[in-house]
Amino acid sequence: MPLSVTLDAPLARLNTFGVEARARRLVEFAGAAAPEDALDAVAGAGPVLVLGGGSNVLFAGDFDGTVLRVSTRGRRILGDDAGEPVVEARAGEDWDGFVRWTLARGLYGLENLALIPGTVGASPIQNIGAYGVEMRERFHGLSAVRLADGARREFDAPACAFGYRDSVFKHAGGAGWLVTDVRFRLSREPAPRTGYTDLREELARRSIASATPADVADAVSTVRRRKLPDPARLGNAGSFFRNPVLPADRAAELARRHPCLPAWPADGGVKLAAAWLIDQCGWKGRREGDAGVHAAHALVLVNHGRASGAQILALARRVRDSVLERFGVELEPEPLIVGAAWL
Ligand code: NAP
Repeated sequence: MPLSVTLDAPLARLNTFGVEARARRLVEFAGAAAPEDALDAVAGAGPVLVLGGGSNVLFAGDFDGTVLRVSTRGRRILGDDAGEPVVEARAGEDWDGFVRWTLARGLYGLENLALIPGTVGASPIQNIGAYGVEMRERFHGLSAVRLADGARREFDAPACAFGYRDSVFKHAGGAGWLVTDVRFRLSREPAPRTGYTDLREELARRSIASATPADVADAVSTVRRRKLPDPARLGNAGSFFRNPVLPADRAAELARRHPCLPAWPADGGVKLAAAWLIDQCGWKGRREGDAGVHAAHALVLVNHGRASGAQILALARRVRDSVLERFGVELEPEPLIVGAAWL
């Protein structure tokens, strides 16, 4: 059944924080459904929130509109672009399943992004990245429809305006598009990137000197399972804060005052490790009711059981405020916050 509609729908099982919230309507855009079906279902129905795996959203309140949950399926190899294979997946495909599918066909380039929760359609929205690779490096193009009027559009990389965990779709000018299909330009030549310390150490632990892309995917998956809480057991949305990117002069001034501050060049500025800033403020492992900062990873906020989205948001604001007070750096959330403003 490609489309189903539920009124006054509970959302706890549709967000990896596992917080209780309700939507006025929930439309499932699934299987082989066509974009027109989804457009018909949301036409004239008020505000629409597009949801994939629910792994990058915090419901701080109910959603008085239609949640359009995308779980369409399909993936295929399209052919070569300048000698490099192009693959396409429908937006609702599970990201990690897609990465494994490409590797099984000898198509390389996404291995460092193994086990990132969420869907293929969500991957360009925040230009997902991990272990030294960003999605934009493998991106070829995407198809989208505008929910307001059904306009169809193909986006190439410049049109997506990718930045560090950022794209046009996170800003007012790019809002309102439903991503339906995403294409990636991959390679048949393995070129493993193993520079990140945790990844390098995991490969060394396995006595792998010359890693294949599958080795990289396996090692990344092992490290992620070790460091990050499983949302099925402990609600979370991965990194809650984006690493801040500061102008070089401001970062240099901070580094003078805090010589241990981890920092790397990024997007024409300097990227700071938000986890380090939060840890220095003493937040790691702290808990306020059922809302907490994960004991093993200061960037990850967790729901220990029955925390509401509003409680998690209140904790996030306190973390932000203390980092701002101590370091003068304003942290921004990675997940979309629904039902409240990030004030
Ligand atoms: P980590 O390896 O402990 O490193 C801490 C931070 O330092 C990371 O955020 C990473 O930035 C940065 N970093 C480390 N080595 C770097 C290098 N050689 N060059 C540039 N930057 C470097 O990080 P972690 O928290 O365990 O995460 C490992 C990877 O998985 C990271 O890439 C992280 O982004 C990704 N991840 C993402 C999420 C999410 O929800 N978005 C959740 C968990 C992990 P980057 O974040 O820019 O790589």
